[in-house]
Amino acid sequence: MKIEGKNALVTGASRGIGREIALELARQGANVAVNYAGSEKMANDVVDEIKSLGREAFAVQADVADGDAVSNMMKRVIEQFGSIDILVNNAGITRDNLLMRMKEEDWDAVIDTNLKGVFLCTKAVTRQMMKQRSGRIINISSIVGVGGNAGQANYVAAKAGVIGLTKTTAKELASRGITVNAVAPGFITTDMTDQLNEEMKAEMLKQIPLARLGEPQDIAKVVAFLASEESRYMTGQTLHVDGGMIM
Ligand code: NAD
Repeated sequence: MKIEGKNALVTGASRGIGREIALELARQGANVAVNYAGSEKMANDVVDEIKSLGREAFAVQADVADGDAVSNMMKRVIEQFGSIDILVNNAGITRDNLLMRMKEEDWDAVIDTNLKGVFLCTKAVTRQMMKQRSGRIINISSIVGVGGNAGQANYVAAKAGVIGLTKTTAKELASRGITVNAVAPGFITTDMTDQLNEEMKAEMLKQIPLARLGEPQDIAKVVAFLASEESRYMTGQTLHVDGGMIM
């Protein structure tokens, strides 16, 4: 795929889906800024792996829900790389509970990271991409943002919001040569889904026509496509990467 020499920023890239996206973009030829909120060591491991592929990489700490931290991160990426061609808004959290038991703070935390974080990072990258008159923004939503899910009102509202934000920013930025698309993963095996017991996973499996749980690679390959020249005539779209679960 044509992303050789492009400069990318992936949020929440120290583990799980974000880590695999950062590595896949590097395998396809991009330099990658690896954003993290928690473990610097894990982020540095991803950086080392990218460097071993012959690409440039560095770790950059920022809470995506903090506007100042996001704008400092963006400045650093532009200083270091000179441009930013690809932004992947991947950072996300869950704080599950039934609506009646959901605490206001858990609503706020999930909306702040999963939805406001996408707004802040997109806004911060837009000025630079407008100057370049090109850019690719890829937002990680979820199929629950399309179909809903009991026990995840905060997460579902955020992920549905990401789909709306994707369409709106796609319309606002199209004339500047910037495309904005979303990927909605199904059930992917990462730390986020590790909390589910084997019985729940078996139940989930029954609903997946392709008869296996997803892996971070399944998402990373589609993100690399959306980051590449090959997807140049697509914008405002949400691709369901879920083994057929939602259809
Ligand atoms: P994960 O918990 O393994 O990774 C999430 C990453 O985001 C972590 O590195 C974490 O440190 C980072 N992060 C959390 N809050 C942050 C913040 N405020 N600022 C910066 N980074 C922050 O989860 P994952 O499964 O790899 O999820 C990645 C994305 O995919 C998330 O947006 C998630 O909602 C979405 N998703 C996952 C699944 C799944 O089944 N795993 C399904 C649909 C969507």
